[in-house]
This record gives sequence, C-alpha cells and structure tokens, in this order.
Amino acid sequence: MSTPLDTIAASPVELLASGSCLLCGSANLEVVLDLGLAGLANNLPTAAECDREPLFPLRLARCPRCTHVQLADRVAPALLYGHYLYVSSASSTLTAHLGSLAAAIAARVPAHAGAASLDIGCNDGTLAAHMRGHGFRACGIDPAQNLAPLARAKGIEVEVDYFHGGTARRLYDRHGPVRVITATNSFPHIPELHSYLEGVALLLATDGVFVIEAHYLLDLIEQCAFDTVYHEHCHFWRLEPMMELFAAHGLEIFDCERLPIHHGQLRVWVQHRGARMPGPRVAAQLEAERKAGLHERAVYDELARRACTIRRDLRTALDGFRAGGKRVAGYGAPAKASTLAAWCGLGPSDLMWIADRNALKQGRFTPGTHIPIVAPERIDSDEPDILLLLAWNFADEIQIQLAGYRARGGRFLMPVPEVRLV
Ligand SMILES: [Zn+2]
Repeated sequence: MSTPLDTIAASPVELLASGSCLLCGSANLEVVLDLGLAGLANNLPTAAECDREPLFPLRLARCPRCTHVQLADRVAPALLYGHYLYVSSASSTLTAHLGSLAAAIAARVPAHAGAASLDIGCNDGTLAAHMRGHGFRACGIDPAQNLAPLARAKGIEVEVDYFHGGTARRLYDRHGPVRVITATNSFPHIPELHSYLEGVALLLATDGVFVIEAHYLLDLIEQCAFDTVYHEHCHFWRLEPMMELFAAHGLEIFDCERLPIHHGQLRVWVQHRGARMPGPRVAAQLEAERKAGLHERAVYDELARRACTIRRDLRTALDGFRAGGKRVAGYGAPAKASTLAAWCGLGPSDLMWIADRNALKQGRFTPGTHIPIVAPERIDSDEPDILLLLAWNFADEIQIQLAGYRARGGRFLMPVPEVRLV
C-alpha cells in the first residue's frame, strides 16, 4: 500500500505554473529549502486512496529582488479548499481567541447603524458571529461548500467563493463600503495577491480597518519550524514585503502585534493611506525583523542546515531504537507532521502508528508517507517504548495528558528545534 516517495509525479494539471515571485513578479526565485515531494498536509488519505495519492514538490523559496519568502510551486486551490475538514468552532482556544479579536476590533472601530463587517475565509462563521454580537451586519466569504450552512445557521450572510477583485465588486454592489474586513489564517494562502488587494481597497470604507492574523516568518525562524511549510502556505509573511504590497494599493499598516497562539502569529492592522497616524509598534517590529536578518539569504541557509541536522539526527535515533528492539510510535498528526515525515522519510517501519485525538483523522494515513493514524487508546494497549512528538509545539500539554504513559517508563522524542529524548 505504501508507495516510495519518488515514484509518483504530480499531475501537471493540478500543479500551477511556478517559479515567479507572487509579490513582484521577478522570475528568479531562489529555492532555499527543498523538502522534496509531499502529499497535501491536510488531505489525509484513506487506505483505498493511498495508492493513487498525488504528491507535489514542496520548496521554500526567496525572491532576491523583493526578498519575499514563499513557495516555489503552487497547488490548484480547488484541491486544497473545496471541502474543508477543519472547523474553527471545534477548538475552544480558537473560539475564545476569535472572540477577543472581535472585541479588540469593536473597541477600536465601533459599529455604527448599518455598519458591515466581512470575514474572508469565514469557515463556519465563528468570528463573524462574534462581530455580529458587537453590532455589525456580519458577512462572510469562503469557498468551502460544506461550511456555508454552518455559518448561515449563525445568522451570517455567506458568499461561497474565493475573494478577489471580481467577488469584491459583487459584494460592494450588495453591501456598499465595509467598515471591518478580517482575514484570519487565510492571508498566507492567496496566490493572486494583487486582485485580492484591489478587492480590499474597493470594499473598505474610508475610515475602515482590514485586520490580518497570520503565521509570522520571524516565529518560523526563531523556532526552526520548517515543518510548518506545506502547500496551503504559499506565503511566509513579514512586515516589510507586506508594506510594499499594501502601498501598491493605496493601503498602509498602522499597527501590528505578535500573538502567542498556534506557532506564534502576527496581527496586522491596515487602513487606507493616511486615515490614522501609524503607531510606534510598526517601526519597532520592522527593526526586529531587520535585526534578525530576515531580509538576507543567510538566515534561510541556516534554517536549511538545521533542517538537515534534524533529519540526520532523527533517522539515526530511529534506526538505533529499531536495532535495540525498541518500539516507537508517534503522537499528534497536525499538518506539520506530514512535512516532517516526508522530509525525514518516515514510514510505518519507523513509527508503528501515530495517535491523534481528532476522530476525523483516525483510520486515515499520513499524506505521502502512509503511517496509520489511530486513537490515543492504542498507547495503553500497545505500550510503545518511545513516542515521537510530532505536535512538538504542544509538548508541555501532551506530556501532562500522558503522565500515565511516562509513569510506566515511556519516553518522548522531540524532533524540533533539535532531536532529543525527554
Ligand atoms: Zn519578489
């Protein structure tokens, strides 16, 4: 059932033309980390699907002209987003976070009579429902057919489509200028940046705000989180290229803040140029990016070097455990587990299975590498000697949950930022 990684080529129909910078159009992207061929990180195949699962090149690249970091190859959006299994309201942490975002927006830009808000990539309407609670006429747009009824049930007007210049004109005709536009975790997914920003500039009211929350390149570098590179994330944003993009559309960043959720995120506040005085945090964060060298090639070469060290050390550790008769399994099958498994060439001979609490993932397999995903009860029945922590950003929480396993002598293997037994 499992297929060697390099025997399947991606279908040319499903892989979009690649190689030019999504921000400035330069044709000379430099690949800084080639992660090889990988399955789609959020499309976990069933046993029947493993044999015909498409694999795609996964390469992190940097534009030498505008210094923006992005994927070199893009997968057609319909393959990634047509039917989405991830639902915002399934995580109580995320629901609470979106509630606090809505409160922060309403404190800064209170709703007046008839003021509209638009959530781009509105998922099941969780954030839009919070905006509605603050008095906004809440609308959303999302391409996932299966999620629209969930959002509509919360009283949200939903458009099932991608957001771009064309859909923005349609929304403008229906709603007029929009006071608040939000995009949480969707901004790094946009290949057609300029059409998207044309849409934002058209829809946004003169004194309105566009608020983005996205994973942040500085966090990726600081945490060595190369495994957060997967096909949905075609951009790895930092402020400087973002400012260049917004300036081209008459927009500007007037505030930003780092957030501790997920792997660390950046919240960016955007407006029509000149609507408010930009605050001091923008210049301070730009300075932090410069100091970390994010505009230079050397930082990414170091990231690639560390990723190679992790791969070598993890393979050595797993081969050693097998030679010593130890039984090894994994814990946590988030999207980044797919990248780590593909990069390190992990298969069912390295990890018997990976336990995950999400019932939708159980019974499926890791993309491309085909390690079975099982319910956490297997830890008690199989009693592995070692658990590889693939959701390493939740290591503390997981070790507390699995205190019984540790008390029986079980050990945890951390893969990132360096391979070590804990
Ligand atoms: Zn560029």
